[in-house]
Amino acid sequence: MLSVHDFTVGYGAVSAVRGIDLDVPEATVTGILGANGAGKTSTLMGIMRAAPRISGTLTVDGRDLSSATTREVVGAGVALCPQNRRLFAGMTIEENLVLGAQGASTAVTKVRLDEAYARTPWLAARRRESAGRLSGGQQQLVAIARALMSAPRLLMLDEPSSGLSPVAVIEVRELLEGICSSGLTVLLVEQNTHLVQRLCSSAYVLAEGRVVGHDTVENLVADDLLSDAYLG
Ligand code: ATP
Repeated sequence: MLSVHDFTVGYGAVSAVRGIDLDVPEATVTGILGANGAGKTSTLMGIMRAAPRISGTLTVDGRDLSSATTREVVGAGVALCPQNRRLFAGMTIEENLVLGAQGASTAVTKVRLDEAYARTPWLAARRRESAGRLSGGQQQLVAIARALMSAPRLLMLDEPSSGLSPVAVIEVRELLEGICSSGLTVLLVEQNTHLVQRLCSSAYVLAEGRVVGHDTVENLVADDLLSDAYLG
């Protein structure tokens, strides 16, 4: 469904992603693994067309988005749940969610809000509370719900378990298991190897901006590549 070829992402003179190829088949959960600084976040930002220097081919559903704007990528059905959640702390849960549905009609936004509240019922009860008052784990659940408000066909998640307590990681995992089993196509950047094993069917391993491995998660585990990915 998503395909990048000879994909490069850079910041001025710094090359963060150096000519990678990556395919995310429809209705699968694909992981991106790698040590700190390997280029995982830059890959996602490049796909969103939100980095200073991007080159190579990007296609979504066979549509060439290599020169697209971020808005066009979102319009093609791609959503990003960013690293560190990036909620608007002074806004309510519901206001944050509504921002994720930008461009949708009031009626459609209402339907999507109802879906989010059905998926995570406590969000409905606390929808008028400031997002900044929530725990890190609760904020992550809101951030995932916000990303889903655009009704994406491809959901990209950047380290959703980062900095969370073990209990919060379980809550995030349970939400993601539900989302993944619904058939949504997912691209997951994660450092938590248990989460990767639970959710992903296959994964790419990045090192210094290049793909150094791509296999089923089962094989990556068997070859010790999953743990090696974090040792750099
Ligand atoms: P982490 O797990 O720490 O988030 P990562 O695999 O996501 O790491 P990136 O954040 O994509 O890696 O960073 C890849 C490289 O690009 C690193 O060398 C980093 O220092 C550099 N980099 C990232 N963002 C910028 C920026 N805004 N300006 C300059 N260099 C950057």
